[in-house]
Amino acid sequence: MRKADDSENPLLSPGQAGGSTRSALMRRVKQKHTGPEILLRKILHRLGFRFSLHVAALPGTPDIVMRKHRSVIFVNGCFWHGHDCRRGALPATRREFWERKIVVNRARDARVERQLLDDGWRVLTVWECAITGKSRLPRAELETLLTTWLRHGAESASDALAGRKT
Ligand SMILES: [Zn+2]
Repeated sequence: MRKADDSENPLLSPGQAGGSTRSALMRRVKQKHTGPEILLRKILHRLGFRFSLHVAALPGTPDIVMRKHRSVIFVNGCFWHGHDCRRGALPATRREFWERKIVVNRARDARVERQLLDDGWRVLTVWECAITGKSRLPRAELETLLTTWLRHGAESASDALAGRKT
């Protein structure tokens, strides 16, 4: 998954943290095999989809790649990727620091998506708030949305699943 999970504390200011804490925090931005990602993989597996994980040969190293469907899925952490939801809210302290970081992440996400679409891939972004926490979608709904997008195609080649507004 592209980022940190809920247990991470974006309020931890790098100015307060020691060097090792800071680099640990930054490493988690690209953390793989996080809870939401594993849950999504289990759902896809049960639905009968085959996929590869973290394919470095593709732009952005997509978390899940389904070659048969020419589709990739990114599982995005709401904070690090600047989702318009409660988890995506910036902390009050060192706001500019985080804002800059997240603007860079969002620009990279957009660039990666453009490259994948240009290469004929379909791109689904699943926000962590769709999978975990209070805002998560009911399992049956999540399964239906995933299946519909993967099997029957969406109107657009790119789409996103987000949690409910809470
Ligand atoms: Zn979100």
